[in-house]
Amino acid sequence: MENVKHFINGHPDAGFGKRHGPVYNPSTGEVLYQCLYGDAKTLDRAISVATEAGLSWGAASHAKRLEVTYRFRELIRENTDRMARLISIEHGKTIPDAKGEILRGLEAVEFATNAPHLTKGEYSRNVGGDIDVFTVREPVGVVGCIAPFNFPVMVPLMMATMAIACGNAVILKPSEKVPGSAILLGELWKEAGLPDGIWNVVNGDKEMVDGILDHPGIAAVSFVGSTPVGEYIYHRGTANNKRVACFTGGKNHMVVMPDADLESAANAFVSAGYGSASQRCMAISLLLPVGDETAERLLELIKPKIENMLVGPYNDPKADFGAVISGESKAAILRAIDVAEQEGATVVLDGRKLTVSGHEKGFYIGPTLLDRVTTKMEFYQKEVFGPARGIVRTASLEEAIAITNAHEFGNGAVIYTRNGEVARRFGMKVEAGMIGVNVPVPVPAGYFNFGGLRRSKFGESHLFGPDAARFYTKSKTISQRWPEPSEQSQYSMNFPSNS
Ligand code: NAD
Repeated sequence: MENVKHFINGHPDAGFGKRHGPVYNPSTGEVLYQCLYGDAKTLDRAISVATEAGLSWGAASHAKRLEVTYRFRELIRENTDRMARLISIEHGKTIPDAKGEILRGLEAVEFATNAPHLTKGEYSRNVGGDIDVFTVREPVGVVGCIAPFNFPVMVPLMMATMAIACGNAVILKPSEKVPGSAILLGELWKEAGLPDGIWNVVNGDKEMVDGILDHPGIAAVSFVGSTPVGEYIYHRGTANNKRVACFTGGKNHMVVMPDADLESAANAFVSAGYGSASQRCMAISLLLPVGDETAERLLELIKPKIENMLVGPYNDPKADFGAVISGESKAAILRAIDVAEQEGATVVLDGRKLTVSGHEKGFYIGPTLLDRVTTKMEFYQKEVFGPARGIVRTASLEEAIAITNAHEFGNGAVIYTRNGEVARRFGMKVEAGMIGVNVPVPVPAGYFNFGGLRRSKFGESHLFGPDAARFYTKSKTISQRWPEPSEQSQYSMNFPSNS
């Protein structure tokens, strides 16, 4: 198959770089094709066309930008099957999972059509001396979007659509592990009528990211990915005086009270814990039953559900989840399980030896469940981005909340209970950006802000919701006076006041 190029000025573009990297089909372990990595010259070219095109796109009417965004939405709908297959083949997730990701991404596109409303300014007439003051929000210019591998379509849509709807030009750097969808999105934008040069894709690794962070032509950077990389990007980008928003790792705790509907809590843990081979930033990572009896009853319910799960290639309609993204990722997950076992966790279900018949080289790990995980263990502390989940037994709600709040990450936290007072207390005391009450994956609808706390986010903005429109626009305040032609004007040395 053809190698993946960049997408610059409305066309696939080989760029000038000499490096490339393999893109795998995780379901088979085979290399699909190479992804061409761009260099400084490639990035320069992309930024130069984006800057030029951005001038007219930024000056285009809201009506024009809306028309293109609406059409883009329709084209994604029409191309969902094709897009889902491309996501799945490069990522390993099942087709229904890929379609779900596209649907959530569409929410961001739909919400971006609110850009005219969200970027409206304010106006005050005659603040003093017949002066009127108003604010306007204008596009920031060229924005860099750096994406992770786990949502090849949803995250770029969440990052970039609002940027474009607000009148900016985008340089997207997708994950080099799943580069194909970004090119397809570029083709759909073009078909929707987006002018060439507004949606650009540059492929690469750290070298390309550093180029984006240092380039004076980039005004803002949004990043979704792991915490160490996000922290680095935030500091380097802001040191270069760019606005930067980074959405990073998670370790989402799910507290289950003794009074909860345990059947629905067990189902929620299984689907939100293991779906997409647990490669979701909002996946439930840890189950915190309150009381040993709750733990035992939950285990009884959860074990058979996990034992019956089917792991298989992306195109197996019976598969519950697929392979993890790479051989390195598989090795890191296996190591995390080994270390947890050595540190004293009980392996309730062991997926380490799983192979999928006919796909022996695929990057598969079976669902793994560890009981008696403690907060001292590496398995507890680190994000494990694969289908190994842990149980931390707790004695009380207060202990469960304290444990949740002491973790490095604060992306999501969930409670299952039938008691409204307990749920309310949890919502008030727990420090997480997204909180679920009897809802396992509390990713809010696209018109709410999204983002974690503590080291799950760097920067003040949120990923979507109204914050995104503010992030991608700058504010100007204009004070104006239109005196009558006959009016006399005199100079004054006093500090201007409104009296
Ligand atoms: P990653 O941090 O390895 O890569 C993300 C992006 O950064 C990629 O484009 C990659 O090329 C680039 N990159 C990687 N190493 C770099 C380096 N040293 N310097 C500069 N750039 C570098 O993340 P990933 O493995 O692709 O994605 C999984 C991570 O993303 C998980 O930690 C997950 O929790 C997180 N995530 C967070 C959210 C959220 O909303 N908070 C959403 C999705 C994923």
